Amino acid sequence: METSGSIAAMKRDPKIVKFYHSPQWKKISMNYKKSVGGLCENCMEKGIYTPGEIVHHKIHITPMNVENPEISLAFENLKLVCRKCHAEEHGEMYGHDQRRYKVVDGRICPVDSPCETYM
Ligand SMILES: [Zn+2]
Ligand SMILES: [Zn+2]
Repeated sequence: METSGSIAAMKRDPKIVKFYHSPQWKKISMNYKKSVGGLCENCMEKGIYTPGEIVHHKIHITPMNVENPEISLAFENLKLVCRKCHAEEHGEMYGHDQRRYKVVDGRICPVDSPCETYM
């Protein structure tokens, strides 16, 4: 049964899947990670040193903006975070949402679909 609507549909959007597997994204996210020193930026603000694990998009990637490199590949839109902070980033955003989400490895996924590329 499909209940989670647009988010689940979006996650499976071929453009988004393709983006996360693209050499450009892999290169940019790696370079970004290096440029910020490999530490979680959220934890750093609190004076805690935690290895960053996930390159998060401040403006979330959607099928509408994924092909816009100013959003999907711009350093200004990226943030290196640890799994915990990543879950918090999305938790805040979706906390008031009607749909249900679960956290898998620090990623937020709709409860009824497998979590693979949704970041
Ligand atoms: Zn953190
Ligand atoms: Zn994210």
